[in-house]
Amino acid sequence: MGLIARIRPDLAAFSPYASARRGGLEAPVRLDANESPWPAADDGFDLNRYPAPQPSALRAALADLYGVAGDQVWAGRGSDEAIDLLVRAFCRAGRDNIVSLAPTFGMYQIAARLQGAEYRMLNLSGDDGFALDPERLLALVDDNTRLVVVCSPNNPTGTSYHPWLEALATRLADQALVLVDEAYIEFAGHESASVLLDRHENIAVLRTLSKAHALAGARVGALLAAPWLVQLVGNIAAPYPLPTPSVAAALAALAPDKKEPVRERVAAIKRERERVRAQLERLPDVLRVWPSQGNFLLVRCREAETTFRRLLDGGVLVRDFSTRPGLEGCLRVTIGSGADNDRLVDVWAGAMAA
Ligand SMILES: *Cc1c(COP(=O)(O)O)cnc(C)c1O
Repeated sequence: MGLIARIRPDLAAFSPYASARRGGLEAPVRLDANESPWPAADDGFDLNRYPAPQPSALRAALADLYGVAGDQVWAGRGSDEAIDLLVRAFCRAGRDNIVSLAPTFGMYQIAARLQGAEYRMLNLSGDDGFALDPERLLALVDDNTRLVVVCSPNNPTGTSYHPWLEALATRLADQALVLVDEAYIEFAGHESASVLLDRHENIAVLRTLSKAHALAGARVGALLAAPWLVQLVGNIAAPYPLPTPSVAAALAALAPDKKEPVRERVAAIKRERERVRAQLERLPDVLRVWPSQGNFLLVRCREAETTFRRLLDGGVLVRDFSTRPGLEGCLRVTIGSGADNDRLVDVWAGAMAA
């Protein structure tokens, strides 16, 4: 039977909007898409023309980057778009549910609410380092569970859950998709769950160019999944999810000569992460800094709101999670440049001395 039986029955045979560019036909005179014959400005992009729904050069570059086959990649408007489309594809409103962790990235719950899917959370505790007990996660799964979402490394805790992923996929075969959000995996010390794709059709992996590849403004993310699921997501997606300048920016950022600079920057962020962690741990206001596999640190403070305010007054904006359940007293600090991080530590230390 397979996981395909868990797709919403009304979408299983969905035929996509037949946009002009979907057929892949080309001709010197293009009068098929109601475009303007003249560009709006001399921008070098031919923006008067619609883009390809899935530009083949981008797909090939992403497949190469992530070590998967071209038909295992769907590129979209950030990984947020893929999250939304997968929830829509699998969950019948008012009936099906999604299982995930808490605390975690907020978009899964938002996508669930938009689709009318129940969102079930396994609460993790910072006291034991946000450790995951897979049996407790599986205990939340029932026959209406369609997605089990694991963010690894997890935002905002920095915890990786890769040792449990293959066992989860095996236990949930033919029942639910294990969706692994790897937005931060470049900063982690372990390999991607994409190596499991060929063995488990119910694993899908989200990758993004927004973090390690420094392209948050371009909005390009990738879903790595079984070819039938990639095709289905393409069928239900908006006709032209990838703006031409974003595709150009992504291809430029993925050129062979950019591999080494990206590797060096990721290495620098990881070194800075450990340096900042050691420095923050010494501050009297800081109760705990969790180890992180991401480009950020989760910090528990004695008085998070005061610290947050004083940092802001000192010109440093961090993320205040202190009122979220399970994150009491916590701030999330992104690792910036060496100078950014020095200022963070200086203001924090000075602020506390004041
Ligand atoms: C930043 C982030 C993303 C990236 O989303 P994009 O839409 O690709 O920018 C995805 N998942 C998590 C957990 C994130 O923190």
